[in-house]
Order: sequence, then structure tokens, then C-alpha cells
Amino acid sequence: MDQIFAPWRMEWISRQDWEEVSNECVFCEIYKKGKDRELGVIAENEYIYVVLNNYPYNPGHVMVIPKEHTGSYAELNEEVLFAHSRLKVRTLKALETAFSPHGFNTGLNLGKGSGGSINEHMHTHIVPRWEGDTNFMPILSDTKIVVEGMLETYRKLHDAFVQQDGAEDRGEEKSVWVGE
Ligand SMILES: [Zn+2]
Repeated sequence: MDQIFAPWRMEWISRQDWEEVSNECVFCEIYKKGKDRELGVIAENEYIYVVLNNYPYNPGHVMVIPKEHTGSYAELNEEVLFAHSRLKVRTLKALETAFSPHGFNTGLNLGKGSGGSINEHMHTHIVPRWEGDTNFMPILSDTKIVVEGMLETYRKLHDAFVQQDGAEDRGEEKSVWVGE
């Protein structure tokens, strides 16, 4: 069967312990909750943060998200765009350290016609790829298994960010601060 690559189709599955954050815009809320490990917030700088996708296409599927609420890429100022690019580069490096993938797909979903599930707050997907990989979600359809897998992914990626130059380890419960 041909695999259609469409990791943007679902970004946020409902999880009981995450319900409380999704009242308003989930991407405006999750990095402020002080529950980084539970919510999958792995690293951040002043303007941008990295969070695990709740519905990963592959292990290590993350989103790089501006803290500012906007659905428009063009509305981000230069400082924020630069911070976004820098954190994307750090995220690619951390994924390489943690998982040694063969490649990556990375991209934006902009606007209602793009097929993303959260259009009002822009975000970039980064998906590690392995030769011959397929979407593992049909196998891991049990939410409990997915959650356990994500905590392991969090630990590995968190460790990889901590190793980077200029990274500040604030403990395993908190995201890694990557200031510059
Ligand atoms: Zn928002």
C-alpha cells in the first residue's frame, strides 16, 4: 500500500490530562503551564518553543512554534523569524543526536486549505524519517502506549538539547533553555 505523507492531518489528540490546556488556543497555553515534561515542551528560547506532536507520524515528530499568536508567517518580525530558524536548526541537531534518522521532512501548514488541524497559530513540523519507515500510529493505536513512548522520546530529546553549546539545563521536568 502506498503511504501518503500527511503528518499535518492531526496534530492534537485529546488526552485526559491535557484537556485543561485546550480551552483556548492550545499553542498559546502549553508552554506556560509549568508542566513541560507532561506536555512535551522540550526546548525554548524567548520567542519560540519546541513541543512533541501529540499524534506523531514518527518517533521524534515535533513542532516548532512561535509564542506569539498568529496564523500568518508574514506577521512574524525579523527577530522572531531568526529565533524560529535558530531553534529549528537546534532541533534538527538534537533529533540527529537522539535518534540518528536518515532524513527529515519539515514544513508549515498555512491557512484553512492546508489540511492542518490548528490553523490559527502557525507552527513548523519536523518529522525524522528512516528509509522504509511507515506511519507507526496504526500499530500504536493504544493511547497509553503512545504516551509512554512520548515520555521516552522526551527524555532522549531533552538529553540531546542539554548537550548543545549554550543550552541551559533547568532539570528534567522543565524545557531546556536555548537562549541565543
Ligand atoms: Zn495561539
